[in-house]
Parts: sequence; C-alpha cells; structure tokens
Amino acid sequence: MSEVKKRGIIRKIVRLLTFVDLPIRRKFTLFAVGVLFWFVLLTSVSFYVLVDVNIKTAQVVDSLLPYEWFAQDTLRNANEVDHLIVDLIHAESEQIITLKAERVKSNLLAIDSSIDQLEAPRMQSPLRLIWDRLSEDDWLDRQGNHAYVELVKGSTASLLKIINEMTYLKLDQVKNSADNNSAIESQRGHFGAIEAELKSASVEFLESISQQTNQYSTSITTTTSYAFWMILTVLTLASGLLAVFTFWISDSIVMPVSSMITKIHTLATGHVDLTDKIEIRSEDEIGEMSQEFNDLMDTVHGMTVFKSVIEEDATLEDVYSRMGEAFSCNVDINQYCIYEVSGDYKTMQAVYPVALSEKELQCHAEILTSCDLCRAVKTGHPISSLAYDRVCKQFIDDQTKVHVCVPMIIGGHAGGVVQFVFDKVGEFALSRNEIERKIAKAEAYIKQSLSVLEAKRLMNTLRESSLRDPMTGLFNRRFLQDQAGHLIAGSLRRKKGIGLLMCDIDFFKQVNDQYGHDAGDEILKGTSKIISDSVRESDVVVRFGGEEFLVIITDIEPGDALVVAEKIRTSIEEKVFLVGPEKVKKTISIGVSEFPLDSDGFWQTIKYADVALYNAKDTGRNRSIRFDESMWSADEF
Ligand code: GH3
Ligand code: MG
Ligand code: MG
Repeated sequence: MSEVKKRGIIRKIVRLLTFVDLPIRRKFTLFAVGVLFWFVLLTSVSFYVLVDVNIKTAQVVDSLLPYEWFAQDTLRNANEVDHLIVDLIHAESEQIITLKAERVKSNLLAIDSSIDQLEAPRMQSPLRLIWDRLSEDDWLDRQGNHAYVELVKGSTASLLKIINEMTYLKLDQVKNSADNNSAIESQRGHFGAIEAELKSASVEFLESISQQTNQYSTSITTTTSYAFWMILTVLTLASGLLAVFTFWISDSIVMPVSSMITKIHTLATGHVDLTDKIEIRSEDEIGEMSQEFNDLMDTVHGMTVFKSVIEEDATLEDVYSRMGEAFSCNVDINQYCIYEVSGDYKTMQAVYPVALSEKELQCHAEILTSCDLCRAVKTGHPISSLAYDRVCKQFIDDQTKVHVCVPMIIGGHAGGVVQFVFDKVGEFALSRNEIERKIAKAEAYIKQSLSVLEAKRLMNTLRESSLRDPMTGLFNRRFLQDQAGHLIAGSLRRKKGIGLLMCDIDFFKQVNDQYGHDAGDEILKGTSKIISDSVRESDVVVRFGGEEFLVIITDIEPGDALVVAEKIRTSIEEKVFLVGPEKVKKTISIGVSEFPLDSDGFWQTIKYADVALYNAKDTGRNRSIRFDESMWSADEF
C-alpha cells in the first residue's frame, strides 16, 4: 500500500472516531450520550458501594453483635452458676439449697430465653434478601454461629437436668440425712465438665466473632478502596475524553467561525485579501458554511475585479463582451444571448455574441422589431421556464431547452435582456437547483454591469445628440467634421470613391411664406426621410444648412453618384406633402461631385458639389448636375 493511501485511511479512521464530519446536532447528541454514560457508570459504582457497605453493616448489627452479646451473657451466667454450685454443695439448710438451686436454674433459663430472642425471625428488606443471595458472605460464619447456639441449647438443657438431680440429692441428704455425697460429687463432676465445655466454646465463639468482625472491616475497606480507585479512574478517563471531545468539537466549530468573523471585519474595513480562503476542516454544517463563505468571497472578488474592468472599458460593446466572458468563464453558462433595447424602447437587437444571426436566435425574430413581445422586456422581471413551462411564446425550442431571461433595468426601463438557455435533456442537463445557483451568480454580474451600462448608454446618447439635428434626426455639420477622416480613410482603404450630393429645396421660402413655419418644418422632415430612404444604411445624410442637405455615398464607382441624385430628385418630385388640407409638391436641385475623382481634397470636393448645385439652380432648378471643371473655372469662386 502506498504511503499516501495509508495516510488517507488513517485520516479517515481518525475523522470517523472524532465525529468531525457528523452534523452538529449529532455531534452534540453523541456528546450528551457520552456524558450520560459516564454519569451512569459513576452513579452505579457509588450506589453499589453504598448498598454493599449498608448491607454489610446491617449484617454485623443483625448477625454478629447479638451473637457476641449472647456469648458474653452465656459466659457471665456460667461463671455465676460456678459460684452458685459451690454454694449449693456447701449449703446445710433446705431453704438455702432451694434458693441456690432456683438461682442456678434462673441463670440457665436466662441463657435459654436469650437463645429464643436470638432465633426470633427478623424483618428483612427485599433488597437485602436479593443482596444476600448475590453476595458471597465468606466472612460471615453462619454455620459456626448456629453450631454454637445449638451447643449452648444442649448444654443448658443438660445442666438443668443435672441441677434438678443435684438439688433432689442435696435436699434428700439434708432432710433424710442420706449419704448422697458420692452421687452429688459425681453429678457435680458431670455439671462441671459440661459447664467447662460451654465456657470454652463461648470463649472460642467470641474469638470467631472478633475474627468475623475483622473480616467484615477488611471487606468494607476493600470495597471502598476498589470503589475509590474505580471512581478516580472513571473520573480521570471521563474528564480526559470530555476535554478531548470538547476541544475537537469547539475546534471544528469555533476556528472556522472566528476566521469568518475576522474576514468579515476586514471586509468591512476594505483591507482583505479575497483570494485567501478559509480552511475547510469538516464536512458538517460548519464545513458547508466555510465552503459557501469561500464561494461568496470568490464571487465578491470576481465582482469587484469585473466592475473595475468594465468601468474602464471604452464602449458598450466592450462591456457586453465582458459580460459574456463572465457568464461563460466565471458562471459556466455557455448558451446565452445579450439583447439591447433601442433608445426609443421599440426594437431590440442581439449584441453579444455578435456572430448570432436571426436564425441562430432562440426566440422568434419578431421580438427584434417589437421588443414588447419579449416577456422579460414587457414585464421588467425575470422570466423562467423553470418556474412555469412554456412561459414565453417567443421561445422556440421549449421541448429540449429551458430558458431564463433576465431584464436589465436601466433608468426604470428594460434597457436590455440577457437570455440564458440550458439543456432540458441529455448529458449536459442540469438540475433545477444548479441552474438557479448559476442564474443567481449571473444576475450578480448583471447587477454590477447595470450602472456602467447606464453611464455608457447615456454617454452614447449625449454624443449622438450633439452630432444630430434634433428636428430631422439627420447628422449635423459637427458630425461631418468629426467623422470625415474615418469616412475618407475607409474608402481609400477599400479603393472606392465617395459621392457627394449637395441638395437644396427649390423655392422653399415660399412654403414658409404661404403655409407658415410649421408647415415648412414638416416638409423639411418629409424631405429628410425621402433622402435617407433613398440611400443605403451605410451612407450618411447631413443637414448642411436650413433646407440644404449633403448626402455622402460611400464605396461608389465613378458615375454612381449622379444616379442616386436622380433617384432622390425624382422621389421628391413625385412626393405630395400634406399641409393641413392642402397638397403641396416640391422639387429639389442637386449638385454632384465625387471624391477623390474630382479632387483629392475632401472639403474641396464638397465645394465642387455646391458649385454644381448653383449651376442646377441657375439652369432651371429641379435638376441633378454633375460637377464639371468648367463650372469652377468659369465661376467667380
Ligand atoms: P432657392 O433655393 O430655390 O433659390 O429658393 P429658396 O427659397 O429655397 O432659397 P432661400 O435660401 O432664399 O431660402 C431658404 C429658406 O429656408 C429661408 C428660410 O426661411 C427657410 N428655412 C431655413 N431653415 C428653415 C427651417 O428650419 N424651417 C423652416 N420652416 N424654414 C427654414
Ligand atoms: Mg432653396
Ligand atoms: Mg438654400
């Protein structure tokens, strides 16, 4: 087995034993069970010792002390009987003999009654009965005690018998002067022998009692000392284990939490290294929390960097592409599309990824021309087919894909939408939870971008408005001054020409005079539209003066410009302007020149177009005239 594998297994075992990866609730339950176990163990030991000592003491009180007293009593009575017997033998009167005999008997009967008391049944607690059965009373000599009692019983009975005999003999001797001496002597000898045996048995028994008492105290000492060591061991072991577990548990809880607190503190002051992660020590809730915290830090870090980068980006397109990169690289979403809603909130276009053609869109193309059809734009809140299947009719492939469309609310309106698409089926299909997690992260990036998008869009609008004529919406002269360089460079690079059409409405003053200034404005707007519609999107129409327009047609071949001029002229000629109830028709004169064919100076070529315009005016108006060098030399310019 390799060293790494071995270490892995040991680590696993240690983690299993220390319960590091168990959920916190389980950890504390186990901890409580552990404490309870030690508590129960300690209580049991203490209880055992208490009961044992208690019962042994009770046994001493019940079984040893009465026997001891009984033996002492017996000995005392026997001694007394000794004296009385001597008195009895030497007594000369009938009265004294009877008296002494009665006293001897009463002493012997006293022993007998002690036996009765000793053997009277005593109340015993059930606990003690059980205990007596369980414990081996090796120090309590029940048989010996019983044998002694039996011996005393037998002896007193014999002694009583002998004393009766002796009394009878003695009285007979005194009353009838019979010679009973030898018989009395023999009875006395008999009596003495039994009594001596009784005494020596009593002395022996007392010794055995004291021995049993000694054994009892040894047994108590042993029990208590065992108990003492056991309690001490249990206490030490339990305290040690509790200390270790307390340390482990607190280590796996307190350390990550305190390092999180430190991070949050430093985050508040701004001096935090967001790349410095919290160590994940366990797989419990704390471990999960640490992981989440690290992810959060990652996101915050990513966001901070992202925001500072897009703030420095030059154009809106740059910001859109950064957002796209963040979605694919940081959030790991690969199917998405960023739509931008136009300034008038009517149309929208897919701005990133730029390569997307209408066919590649996940939605019907109608949304591009009327963005209100897009549910996210219309409602201003996220639209998710996860929450409700087929929620948006514009989404094409709702069989195999799910979509989440997040509007970008800029200045109170949906200024755009980010559409995220996920596979519903197949190997790349994600769970709802995973999708929601990704969307939440992506939304954070969108939120970060909103203020930057708003600022950039505002700047674009401002720039646009400073370069456009507000009434007609055409570019103004400033635009021409700004962009002339770009237009020229592009055409030269492509080796194409630029057509310049200087247009002036004929007798425009009359309109103002006849129908008023407002009518004049309307005709100006109408004319602007006709001119714009007559040229390509890439061509530029400039409002050059009051009712003068300069059309810049890019990428032309020689001769093309005049054709376009004619197209404009005829379109205007055919147009009927409505001024209130009146129908008004106007014509236009156009001077045409070509750059760099006519001159390698751009502004000079414009001048030539103007010269050609004057020529058109002079030669009857409603005409398109191509510039000719003769016009320049012949003219007073
Ligand atoms: P022609 O060019 O055929 O020689 O005659 P004209 O009447 O069009 O020429 P002129 O240059 O004398 O008049 C131009 C008029 O256009 C003068 C001005 O009142 C009018 N005009 C210029 N700018 C505006 C505008 O913004 N609105 C309106 N209503 N009229 C304008
Ligand atoms: Mg005019
Ligand atoms: Mg004019």
